[in-house]
Amino acid sequence: YAAKAERTVVAHYDPQRDTASRERLRTRQMLRRAIEQDEFEVHYQPQCALGGGAAVGVEALVRWRHPERGLLPPGAFLELVEQAHLMPALTLVVLEQGVQQCAAWRRQGRELTVSVNLSARSLLDPELPGQVDALLRRHALPAAALVLEVTEEMIVTDPVRSLATLDALRALGLGLALDDYGTGYASLRYLRDLPFDELKIDRSFVQDLGTRAADTAIVASTTELAHALGLRVVAEGVETAAALGLLAELGVDTAQGYHLCRPVPATDLSAWLEARAAAAPPLPAGAQPLE
Ligand code: C2E
Ligand code: MG
Ligand code: MG
Ligand code: MG
Repeated sequence: YAAKAERTVVAHYDPQRDTASRERLRTRQMLRRAIEQDEFEVHYQPQCALGGGAAVGVEALVRWRHPERGLLPPGAFLELVEQAHLMPALTLVVLEQGVQQCAAWRRQGRELTVSVNLSARSLLDPELPGQVDALLRRHALPAAALVLEVTEEMIVTDPVRSLATLDALRALGLGLALDDYGTGYASLRYLRDLPFDELKIDRSFVQDLGTRAADTAIVASTTELAHALGLRVVAEGVETAAALGLLAELGVDTAQGYHLCRPVPATDLSAWLEARAAAAPPLPAGAQPLE
């Protein structure tokens, strides 16, 4: 019997799987340590009103200040965080920093909103609305100053539970944005049935705006549809003055992109806001809406 048991164990032992699970454990411990050591920091990218040009909000974008590898973009680690089941923890880190910073800017008289990206897992987390509520109270930030961004892919996973979370968040009085619009399933049912306040047109339609007629048609009709449904429209990935001008003509509400400002640490954003406020006509003449 002993010999048989041993054979069974040997037969079932898979060194590759063992290495993989040990590797996962190591990654999880490394990420946990990074969270505890405050290595994740939030950078901010402004969103500016088209026609006027005032910064009306910022998007919070997480970075990992890695002790050896330097500043890492989310594309380099979000997948790992997700696999390690640490996304709810990271979401709280970003929310905490974003809400605190937004409250600080408001105390300085800057009426900005802060937008924070959620993950699919956060959207299925029944504890999230309560945590967000507590956070807003702790930093005395009005709920209307916070916008949470989700993508269509995140909702598809479990539309019923996602809707429950979105409704609970909405009941707090904060804003909800549909991110990367046009790249996913772009189901009109989501626009009709889910409680969004804002639609963010994906940068793939915005980056080269003005060079392809199709992009102009898509941005124009999406904006018209969103407005008819009572949603604000944000264009992501504005990289050129030409795109900015066209977006204003097409009636898009706000713009976000490298042409205006890259995501930067909070102190740099404060300086950018100051410089912009001091500067004369903030947008080129071509960017003024047509009468
Ligand atoms: P996103 O939410 O769609 O954020 C916009 C991304 O586009 C950011 O990349 C931003 O730096 C980049 N971007 C802004 N303007 C331009 C432009 O003019 N041209 C181009 N080419 N890119 C521009 P980033 O910071 O690397 O973030 C990538 C994605 O990672 C985000 O896409 C979002 O899905 C995710 N992400 C970022 N921060 C968080 C977070 O705190 N939590 C979660 N769950 N996801 C996050
Ligand atoms: Mg986003
Ligand atoms: Mg996006
Ligand atoms: Mg994205």
